[in-house]
Amino acid sequence: MDVQEHVSLARYSTLHVGGEARYFVRIADLEVLRAALNWAADRDLPWFILGGGANFFCRDEGFPGLVIRIESRSVTLTPGSVPGTGELTADAGALTRLAVIEAVRRSFRGLERLAGIPGTIGGAVRGNAGAFGVETKDRLSKVGVLRLTPEGWHEDVLPREQLSFGYRDSTFKREPAGYVIWNATFSLDAGNPEEGERLVNDDLAARKAKQPYEFPSVGSVFKNPSVERPAGALIEAAGFKGRRIGGAEVSVKHANFIVNRGGATATDVLALIKQIEREVLEAFGISLEKEIVVLPHDTAG
Ligand SMILES: Cc1cc2nc3c(=O)[nH]c(=O)nc-3n(C[C@H](O)[C@H](O)[C@H](O)COP(=O)(O)OP(=O)(O)OC[C@H]3O[C@@H](n4cnc5c(N)ncnc54)[C@H](O)[C@@H]3O)c2cc1C
Repeated sequence: MDVQEHVSLARYSTLHVGGEARYFVRIADLEVLRAALNWAADRDLPWFILGGGANFFCRDEGFPGLVIRIESRSVTLTPGSVPGTGELTADAGALTRLAVIEAVRRSFRGLERLAGIPGTIGGAVRGNAGAFGVETKDRLSKVGVLRLTPEGWHEDVLPREQLSFGYRDSTFKREPAGYVIWNATFSLDAGNPEEGERLVNDDLAARKAKQPYEFPSVGSVFKNPSVERPAGALIEAAGFKGRRIGGAEVSVKHANFIVNRGGATATDVLALIKQIEREVLEAFGISLEKEIVVLPHDTAG
């Protein structure tokens, strides 16, 4: 296990801001993951699981514990027990986009609308990531995990029904210290690769038209309080589009995105988030809830 010290987390967040991890390790093997978790526990250090960093950044003061980056990336497709069906099992570190494209290429359908979600399968399962009315949980059948028990970290396979999925919510999100996602299995139907590819490309074009792909971001900062009142509309109505602190800016394209216009710090982003929370509460009486994860406060262990 190669534990590095003082590793900048800015390069591991798609927003490109933030401080250092005191300790940092890349993991592609389940036994090494277990060893890393025990290593942190032996030293009484907090730990944090990192996937693609598309929903996360670290405060500028850094994280005093161990950041564990999951880099197991294999994706396997097998025929299902019912003819015309299939099962895709992806390691937690597999990029969601590549897992979906592999399913499409191999003539399976069911995951196409998730193709544009940046980050890994582990991050998508934990946050029940979704797009175009489809959520990660919809085709999920089971999740392979390490689960913390009084005897230590144990391998387990949990069926979807046990995982309390909701809008950007799951057991993994509510109990981050209790689980690490190691892989996920999805049930798929037979599909047409050309149709699948068209859907993936159309969705990507729609995203590029509506979301600020031209600047670094971590996607939607806040959860939508309701379908009728999406966070972006509230933030826009509060006059935030284009508002800037340092290098951090509320996107002019989509007000629920904060983009790094160059040289932003985590402190800039957090100051902008605070302003949004305060002014949306004042204007509409609505407390926005963050969708993104900010270290250290959202520490797992
Ligand atoms: C341009 C852009 C567009 C986006 N569009 C969407 C969208 O349409 N829909 C949507 O839902 N999201 C969207 N996002 C947000 C992001 O893509 C998702 O939240 C994604 O699922 C995050 O995955 P990740 O691997 O990057 O997670 P990370 O950012 O690395 O981590 C996020 C959280 O997941 C936890 N985590 C990660 N891996 C594991 C694991 N193996 N076990 C346990 N916990 C784990 C981390 O500890 C952390 O708490 C967008 C982001 C960007 C930058």
